[in-house]
Amino acid sequence: MPRFAERAYNFSPGPAVLPLPVLEKVQKELLNYRECGASILEISHRSKDFLPILDETQQLFRQLTQLPDNYRLLFFSGGAQMQFSAVPLNLLSRSASNRASYAVTGKWGELALEEGKRYGSAEEWMHGREDRYNRIPNVQAEDLERLKGSAYLHLTSNNTLYGTQWNHFPQTGEVPLVIDATSDILSREVDFSQFGLVYASLQKNLGPAGLTLVVVRDDLLGHHLPQTPKLLQYQAIDSQNSLNNTINVFAVYVMRYVLEWYEEQGGVAAMEKQNRQKAKLLYDYLDESDFFLTSVNPPDRSLVNVIFNLPTTELLQQFLQECEEVGLLALKGHREVGGVRASLYNALPLTAVERLVEKMRDFERKALT
Ligand SMILES: *Cc1c(COP(=O)(O)O)cnc(C)c1O
Repeated sequence: MPRFAERAYNFSPGPAVLPLPVLEKVQKELLNYRECGASILEISHRSKDFLPILDETQQLFRQLTQLPDNYRLLFFSGGAQMQFSAVPLNLLSRSASNRASYAVTGKWGELALEEGKRYGSAEEWMHGREDRYNRIPNVQAEDLERLKGSAYLHLTSNNTLYGTQWNHFPQTGEVPLVIDATSDILSREVDFSQFGLVYASLQKNLGPAGLTLVVVRDDLLGHHLPQTPKLLQYQAIDSQNSLNNTINVFAVYVMRYVLEWYEEQGGVAAMEKQNRQKAKLLYDYLDESDFFLTSVNPPDRSLVNVIFNLPTTELLQQFLQECEEVGLLALKGHREVGGVRASLYNALPLTAVERLVEKMRDFERKALT
């Protein structure tokens, strides 16, 4: 494994690259947080120094998303996958027959459905399994009709492994739309009022690993099944402002600086603009090339996880190795998908993608001569 004297370009799918100014601030403050005499790693989650951090983080998120007032912001341990359990436990009882619907457009959707089945009749509503999840299913009026009586519809807004993304969300009417937005939260402008619940673990676009943000419409609180563990009850967590037990202080602290940085850059609109630029650069090259191939249905291409492959496994290995050597890191595709995956989250600069495309051009030219 090559070693670097400087920070390299990090295409990791998660935990992912953080904005450099954020890391610098953290470094500067690490030993003695704002002269409180101790590190942020050493203070109470109920201390006077931490409570404003929690508050500001929530405020910043509200501003960035123009979140309507009837939504609550909660923090949970256990990652996004813990919400695969928390969502059915908290919402299934909204349906008389504990029925819920799942759009399965990738691995994370499969796992969410499997977990939902533990607690009620979670059903696959639509899926995109043909051609290895390379497209988002086309939703017709009769599909929406089939949702009637469901406690909720769950979908994964961006399929991190397969590189597809929902461009517009189904209009589900009375049935709350529940979104796993772990890999694309704050990467593009989205109207949150169309969702009943949105969750995302922090480690892709919000901060370091260790917490999951849940944004939930207030009428969905208080419906949990009786067996729901206390620390997974949305209502219980809301009533204590996520301080029921020791919250991951450091993760919230870093998230605040990440959100501040987004705000300084021009907010979510600016993030989206840059993400579109980065994705276009890469997809344009892929479309032009007969050497690098992508099989993702063009209208469903993800802005944040770009998946492609090379003609042979030998060339793939060689390409990945050469990328690592020049400081283009963590481009190896997920083990279930193979190939290359370039994750272009908010904190990845445009230059990183320019370097990657240069490398691809160069590699293609050499391979073809
Ligand atoms: C990364 C990712 C997860 C991971 O969940 P954790 O439990 O936080 O590791 C879940 N869903 C999606 C869409 C992801 O991209």
